[in-house]
Amino acid sequence: MTWIEVNCPECGAVECKPADFELAVCNLPSASYYALTCPMCHKRIQKAADERAIELLIAEGVTPQRWELPAELLETHDGPPLNLDDLLDLHMLLEAPNWFEVFSSTHA
Ligand SMILES: [Zn+2]
Repeated sequence: MTWIEVNCPECGAVECKPADFELAVCNLPSASYYALTCPMCHKRIQKAADERAIELLIAEGVTPQRWELPAELLETHDGPPLNLDDLLDLHMLLEAPNWFEVFSSTHA
């Protein structure tokens, strides 16, 4: 059986099985990570996984899971931040029975 050595912040080097790993490969590479529960202290270990770590873990038998960040996180937001007046305006708008038509016509 293959054992993979991981460095636990509490216990130091510990050996784990490939099946113990959660390998999350993201469409934004810097958000990829691997995680597992330390077999000694039972705390969760989570570390960033660069391309090399991903390749090594897969080569050792870890099954990767793909995940994607919501596209909204990659959008550029150049408008002013929402303030209290905006929130009150939205609240009042949502109380009107035709709020969706009003909103659609002003925010196309
Ligand atoms: Zn530990």
